[in-house]
Amino acid sequence: MTNDEFRRLGHALVEWVADYRENVESHPVMARVAPGDIRRQLPSAPPVDGEPLDAALADLDRVIMPGITHWSHPRFLAYFPSNAGLSSVLADLVATGLGIQGMSWQTSPAATELEEVVMDWLRQMVALPASFTGVIHDTASTATLVALLCARERTTDHGQTRGGLQAEAAPLAVYASEQSHSSIEKAALLAGFGREHLRAIETDDAFALRGDALRAAIKRDVAAGIRPCAVVATVGSTATTAIDPVADIAEIAAEHGMWLHVDAAMAGSAMILPECRWMWAGIERADSVVFNPHKWLGVAFDCTAYYVRDREHLVRVMSTNPSYLRTAVDAEVSNFRDWHIQLGRRFRSLKLWFLIREQGVSGLQARLRRDLANAKWLESAIGAEPGWELCAPVPLQTVCCRHVPEGLDDAAVDTHNLAWVDRLNASGFAYLTPTVAKGRRIVRVSIGSEATERRHVEEVWEAMKAAAET
Ligand SMILES: *Cc1c(COP(=O)(O)O)cnc(C)c1O
Repeated sequence: MTNDEFRRLGHALVEWVADYRENVESHPVMARVAPGDIRRQLPSAPPVDGEPLDAALADLDRVIMPGITHWSHPRFLAYFPSNAGLSSVLADLVATGLGIQGMSWQTSPAATELEEVVMDWLRQMVALPASFTGVIHDTASTATLVALLCARERTTDHGQTRGGLQAEAAPLAVYASEQSHSSIEKAALLAGFGREHLRAIETDDAFALRGDALRAAIKRDVAAGIRPCAVVATVGSTATTAIDPVADIAEIAAEHGMWLHVDAAMAGSAMILPECRWMWAGIERADSVVFNPHKWLGVAFDCTAYYVRDREHLVRVMSTNPSYLRTAVDAEVSNFRDWHIQLGRRFRSLKLWFLIREQGVSGLQARLRRDLANAKWLESAIGAEPGWELCAPVPLQTVCCRHVPEGLDDAAVDTHNLAWVDRLNASGFAYLTPTVAKGRRIVRVSIGSEATERRHVEEVWEAMKAAAET
């Protein structure tokens, strides 16, 4: 493509994205296509000869858009928000346009140094102590895998440089709440702990990990000759935004020399609000913390913030340092290739930089406070409505509820709730996700899309009642 062609199409596509955001409300929130509908419209073999890209742009509207679920829609209240603030969209364009690899300082010094600066800004924004150093990962899942690898290597005193886990005299165990994200289980399995040594710890009525249950599980393991290695505390669980007691868990971790990893993938963004920081009290004792600015905060996917207290340990575990990657300045700089799994890395810090500069801390705080107030409003509306139940505390922006018509048994209530959410989602008006909590079908209303104002939450609540009560 020539530069002139790029200019012409690039301007058109910026218009396209701006039009999309302006009119996003006119789309059905959830894509209304059946499996195969999109694939069927695409040629099964690649074109032999090139063509002007205009034809592909036309297909974008005709073929691709019907198969898009609109995460930027103001009535998208499913999963967790995945905001892509337009300032970060522009940063992504620049990062890709530059086409650089930021694997070491020398391969683009600005990429490394901007990341150091904005990760420290972000650390200050969420009030993590200065003892923590941050690096950007692609997703929380990868960061959690790295955390468990670091835990494994600390407990085994760098066993990977010898026979690895296979040469350990005693098996190592990992602990997390039964409400923890599936990425914890995946990381524990990939890190070689084995399913038999992954403990799902019971939770209390608020779905938070029970310290006494954790102690009991550790005691059983120690008696059986199993070594406690790591515990993962979840701040803001995926099903109900439950808050594990980080300070209590840190105390237990310290008693047993265990690694403490805090998964605050969703809730971490809320820590830019001083009034939310009680949720991770004790965080200064964590060995590693992960959260996703690509969720609620508004950095376009992907951008995960991973903070560690002992960066030397991280680099020792993750670095391979072959001779062709060594440079003369290695002693003075950070080479982020040694801070995570992959070698090549995108210039993601630009997204964080643009977003924070454009919004300011106060702008980001105002939006999150708006969403928290909207969740409180919905919590009261549901609490006051006969026939409706709140199913979990609402510390953040997710409200869990269900409709309980008179005269139905538990199984029928479950079926009823699944059915009305399906009806609402299929209507295209709003998108909510059902889930299971302690064996009950519940519905999550996860507020926090950038475009979601109070009126949208009110409209969705009316639509929920209409779907459930017809
Ligand atoms: C979203 C989420 C994750 C996974 O995040 P990815 O960045 O998609 O890997 C992990 N833990 C919690 C609590 C989450 O909400």
